[in-house]
Amino acid sequence: MNITKKLLRVNEFSRPGKKLAEKKALILHWVGVGGQRALTVWEYFEYACVKEQKYASAHYCVDLDGGVYQFIPDDEVAYHCGSSQNDPKSGKIYTDWARDVFGKYAEDPKGNSPNNASIGIELCVIDNQGNFAPETLQSAAELTARLCQTWRIPLERVGTHNMVVGWKDCPRLWTRFPDQFSAFKERVGNLMTR
Ligand SMILES: [Zn+2]
Repeated sequence: MNITKKLLRVNEFSRPGKKLAEKKALILHWVGVGGQRALTVWEYFEYACVKEQKYASAHYCVDLDGGVYQFIPDDEVAYHCGSSQNDPKSGKIYTDWARDVFGKYAEDPKGNSPNNASIGIELCVIDNQGNFAPETLQSAAELTARLCQTWRIPLERVGTHNMVVGWKDCPRLWTRFPDQFSAFKERVGNLMTR
């Protein structure tokens, strides 16, 4: 796995330059558009978010060919899993899993959001059903394993955006087929024991 540093410039909307308070969890996302490449995602965070005044970003993006790009240093905040909207099902902003994992970071949407205590990874997809290329999955597993080991994040604290914000269809494939996410985590676990 090769990591290319492509850091965003510090700005209010995608790289606030604030330090993470803690590293409690690793949260996985999909980019939402089939065939979109990692550098297009970078351009979106670097230019469009600032222009449109939209808060969004992630620390890493895994490309269709398995290339890994780092957009934000591990010790800084990215805007990838915060929410201010109630989940229609639970009536709460964050899921039970998120409130269990994040504690005070998942209680007050205006203050401490899970963004202050997590690292976010975007995954490119080959189609709008959210299927992953084998190369993307392999690098995603290696990156996840490495970050878990570096920052001592246990496998139980690797989650999807949907596991934090229940109404988010992200990543679509693993939201629809949670077994495939379990299989992914097993793969990450196998990489960590080496
Ligand atoms: Zn997401």
